[in-house]
Amino acid sequence: MKDKKDPDLMEKIVSLCKRRGFIYPNSEIYGGLAGFWDYGPLGVELRHNIKQHFWDKFVSGRDDIYPVSTSIIMNPKVWEASGHVSGFGNEIFKTSVGSGEEAATSYLRPETAQGMFANFKNIIDSFHPRLPFGLAQIGKAFRNEISPRDFLFRSREFEQMEIEYFVREKDWEKYFSEWQEKMKEYAKEIGINKVHELEVPEGDRAHYSRRTIDFEFDYPFGRKELWGLAYRTDFDLKNHGLDYFDDESGERFAPHVIEPTFGVDRSVLAVLLSAYTEDELGGEPRTYLKLAKNIAPIRAAVFPLLKNKPELVKKARELFLNLKSQIPNLEFDDNGNIGKRYRRQDEIGTPFCITIDFDTLEDDTVTVRDRDSGEQKRIKIADLKEAIV
Ligand code: ATP
Repeated sequence: MKDKKDPDLMEKIVSLCKRRGFIYPNSEIYGGLAGFWDYGPLGVELRHNIKQHFWDKFVSGRDDIYPVSTSIIMNPKVWEASGHVSGFGNEIFKTSVGSGEEAATSYLRPETAQGMFANFKNIIDSFHPRLPFGLAQIGKAFRNEISPRDFLFRSREFEQMEIEYFVREKDWEKYFSEWQEKMKEYAKEIGINKVHELEVPEGDRAHYSRRTIDFEFDYPFGRKELWGLAYRTDFDLKNHGLDYFDDESGERFAPHVIEPTFGVDRSVLAVLLSAYTEDELGGEPRTYLKLAKNIAPIRAAVFPLLKNKPELVKKARELFLNLKSQIPNLEFDDNGNIGKRYRRQDEIGTPFCITIDFDTLEDDTVTVRDRDSGEQKRIKIADLKEAIV
């Protein structure tokens, strides 16, 4: 049974992440560093799949979004214009650029958004986009949080996926609602069970924002922000002295901005929390991650039934390499007995396990085990790809 009230849930997730190679405490061999985390092989894949889905849905899947990848350190004037140097106060990481007398103070970006505003004119000059259009970026951001806590929820180095969507002022409500829907769709598609929408009241919004929705998630430590959606008016472009010439009306003005912003690491945490399940299978208690197929770090694992039968291992290796050329995130596993392999694959959220046994050598069929039900089916090798994608 899945019990979100389990008081040990966070501890269980943190421990599973470490044991199975998703996420490790940073520089642990030296006692760690609060607010920093390292991703191991499975965490990298999981995070990659979450970002890839963002990219497919919001960037390459559309023709009105221009991706950029801007540097972490920028001219400090950017942060003065954006209000961050005064506003974020001691949460912004200071660094110095250059050495000796030449050294100038700058900052590690506390958000990826400003890199997009700073390139607004470049994109217009190179691509002449018509309104509405957007810029998108995925990248690291840094905040010297006073009390980093709750695993990936509040760290000092994290990743963001942000979109700045530029519209005519009169259209802002329409596009705000459109992005609100898209964000909910995205949550569902990556397997986040339920997001709550909090209409942020005027007094709690940034002063330039005329509407903000916080997408919240029920973490074990309470209902807290996962992502945000803000109508930022023309505040940012005006601050940077930027505008746009509209062919349609023959006017020059600063477009208004709708900003959907997603924390990658909070998404990883919400996906893990949504997926974590304890149940009983064949009379035995088990733990598994019910990850969406497109998000699971490993799509399927391929096993020989017995590791000491060369003919089975050879056949399994062949099948594995052949299938892997079509579906990259496959794993070959011949460690321990089959029960142990199933347990490990369940715990890392692998949707399918494919076993090669003696019948395979006779009739080119394999067993495919479904993670959630534990059911096994015999399937022809020729139909395998279709069964797991
Ligand atoms: P909070 O109120 O929780 O500090 P925020 O409102 O300051 O968050 P934003 O400035 O809107 O956050 O940042 C956009 C997104 O970046 C957030 O929705 C969240 O997903 C992520 N984020 C912000 N701060 C952190 C952090 N310290 N660690 C991990 N992710 C973060």
